[in-house]
Amino acid sequence: MRLCQFDNYRLGIVDKDLIRDVTEVFEELPRLRYPLLPGDALVAALPELREKMVATANRAPVIPISKARLLSPVANPSKVVGAPVNYKKHLAEVVADPNLHHQNPAHIQAIRQSGLFLKATSSLVGASQGVVIRHPDRRTDHEVELAVVIGQSANFVAAKDALRFVAGYCIGLDISLRGPEDRSLRKSIDTYTVLGPWLVTADEITDPSVLDLSITVNGEMRQKANTRDMILGVPELIEFASSFYTLLPGDVLLTGTPEGVGPICAGDVMQARIDRIGDMIVLVRAK
Ligand code: MN
Repeated sequence: MRLCQFDNYRLGIVDKDLIRDVTEVFEELPRLRYPLLPGDALVAALPELREKMVATANRAPVIPISKARLLSPVANPSKVVGAPVNYKKHLAEVVADPNLHHQNPAHIQAIRQSGLFLKATSSLVGASQGVVIRHPDRRTDHEVELAVVIGQSANFVAAKDALRFVAGYCIGLDISLRGPEDRSLRKSIDTYTVLGPWLVTADEITDPSVLDLSITVNGEMRQKANTRDMILGVPELIEFASSFYTLLPGDVLLTGTPEGVGPICAGDVMQARIDRIGDMIVLVRAK
């Protein structure tokens, strides 16, 4: 199942070029009372809601995807976890280019040494919202990544069990301002985490380690790789992350970017693609 959020936080099932509007299933979610529980209530409820969504879809209003404004398919993650240098060839390119590592030893180590980082959830947008360049005088790069959305609370999960904790997958763009500051600052700028175009539920991607991923900018191929080239695969990343903190429903794990990162500026058009998920077109804007 492919789930999207669109327009004014409507919920849709993507069916080829159409969206079937199943927003009415939000009525099934627990009534919210302050203080809210951490985590995304919709993602947490997906297993129970699935049947109801399919039934609703059959009689739902339909709109063409081309007419919808696609938002992040996850509205309220408690955290966006990033994996630095998780592809061997990307590590080699970071080591070779001072513009990428800025003499910071933490940036030129493989993932087991450098660990994970967090991006502010306020940086999250969907495909149609675009990326707004915040510091045009400095270099800003695209990073295309497989994004994993956690489906249920995961604490000290072993790699062999980890895929059971996955709700689904999206394309993720970990947009990065280059410079000497901490990753959590440079990568948390508003609109610098793009998730979409929709969530593909985990039953449709039984093996996340065999997916081609790519991104073009203005039609020029920039990054092209396969998730088999990751240093830590999805199960190992979940094991690693959940050994530090509990992953909650809706949490997003950006699994790292392959070689070929490069600059973007206002006016550029990015087109990212991942096998079994689809294509995502994202515009880069000045404001
Ligand atoms: Mn990244």
